[in-house]
Amino acid sequence: MTQFDIIVIGAGPAGSAAATWAAKQGCSVALIDKATFPRSKLCGGLFTERSRTYYHEIFGQDVDLSHAVTRDEMAFWHDGRELAVLKDIPPLHLTMRLDLDAAMYTHALDAGVEDFTGQAIAELTDTAVKLRDGTTLTAAVIIGADGVNSLVAKHLFGKSFDTKTIGFGLEIEAPVSIQDPDKQPLRIDFAAAKWGYGWSFPKHSSTTIGVGGLRDPNPDMKQQMQRYMRALGLPSEVAKIKGHHLPFGDFRPTPGRAHILLAGDAAGLVDPITGEGIAFAMKSGQLAAQAACEAIKAAAPHTALDLYKTHLKEIHRNLRIARILRRIIFAPRWHKSLIGSFRRSGTVRTMYMRLLAGEVEYPELARNVLAQLPRYLLNGLRRTP
Ligand SMILES: Cc1cc2nc3c(=O)[nH]c(=O)nc-3n(C[C@H](O)[C@H](O)[C@H](O)COP(=O)(O)OP(=O)(O)OC[C@H]3O[C@@H](n4cnc5c(N)ncnc54)[C@H](O)[C@@H]3O)c2cc1C
Repeated sequence: MTQFDIIVIGAGPAGSAAATWAAKQGCSVALIDKATFPRSKLCGGLFTERSRTYYHEIFGQDVDLSHAVTRDEMAFWHDGRELAVLKDIPPLHLTMRLDLDAAMYTHALDAGVEDFTGQAIAELTDTAVKLRDGTTLTAAVIIGADGVNSLVAKHLFGKSFDTKTIGFGLEIEAPVSIQDPDKQPLRIDFAAAKWGYGWSFPKHSSTTIGVGGLRDPNPDMKQQMQRYMRALGLPSEVAKIKGHHLPFGDFRPTPGRAHILLAGDAAGLVDPITGEGIAFAMKSGQLAAQAACEAIKAAAPHTALDLYKTHLKEIHRNLRIARILRRIIFAPRWHKSLIGSFRRSGTVRTMYMRLLAGEVEYPELARNVLAQLPRYLLNGLRRTP
């Protein structure tokens, strides 16, 4: 079969969620990925309870965490000093994307999606995809879930992201022979990158260590990564440093055109403060599939984008508020003030932790920040020479 209701390009969290949800709605779906699964993806693999809820809703079962490490304690550092260790926090799951993405892709196949993974795309038009082996697939709706370097976004808009506003992350997997993950805390370092942070996430057979933030203010990200590794007591040659772009709050207000939709990183749906992307990738994949199926059932595939934009409103609203808050949280001018507040105030720490765990929505956070803002600004001004 080469004619489908929907073609989904990319079988990561966004694509597998979109394909599964569309198949469950009765649509015929082709799932394309240039990679063969299981495949790895550069990522901290932090999987929040928000992600877990979405996973259950979309795939109809709980995520298999048997290969993940779950922690309820987190250490926060700033510039070589421990700020706080928070205990009894909402559970955070440290997954390997190799396992996680393979599970989602398998759910898609189990839902009846036709598998075209392991094949690169030779040509993309508004209604068809030609694969390198010569197969041509056609569909009423195309969903681009092909990550930050999205071919579908390039087809629609000429480029996949704005180099001025994009984020970037670097990571290593520190092997057990160098560092025992069981003895490592789950750790965030605020000063490891500008407009971002550093992380050390213990897994079963490695520790994922990384720095990430906006690309523009961090032209020397590799040096920052090496500095961070030294601060953690790791030799710089311990593992190969790998990098990947991250659409850190750089979302597209119009994620597509008529019957072509973008989801996940391809639509820029990453939290601008925490960098969490898996949850929004799955959710936007589901919403894109929902819109596509509704438009197809109404015999009006070209209305898919309008429906999708309506379904995405809540996520876009959250990300918009988060982008504004980011200017307060990350701006160098207020940094000392923020760190001081974090050290002193249990409320600030709890709020940040709930944010990281995906437990708090941004409108609520904005109300709290506004209430604290006068004191916070005053402290900042006092410190400004
Ligand atoms: C360093 C780093 C650390 C991160 N840490 C976290 C974290 O701890 N927690 C979290 O929630 N988020 C994290 N993120 C963000 C998260 O990784 C992404 O938001 C998430 O992977 C987005 O999912 P996606 O399905 O949209 O895209 P992807 O996961 O990138 O999947 C895209 C898929 O499309 C395929 N593809 C690409 N191009 C083509 C093509 N031309 N043809 C066919 N197939 C194609 C790829 O092979 C891939 O399988 C991190 C990101 C980075 C860079």
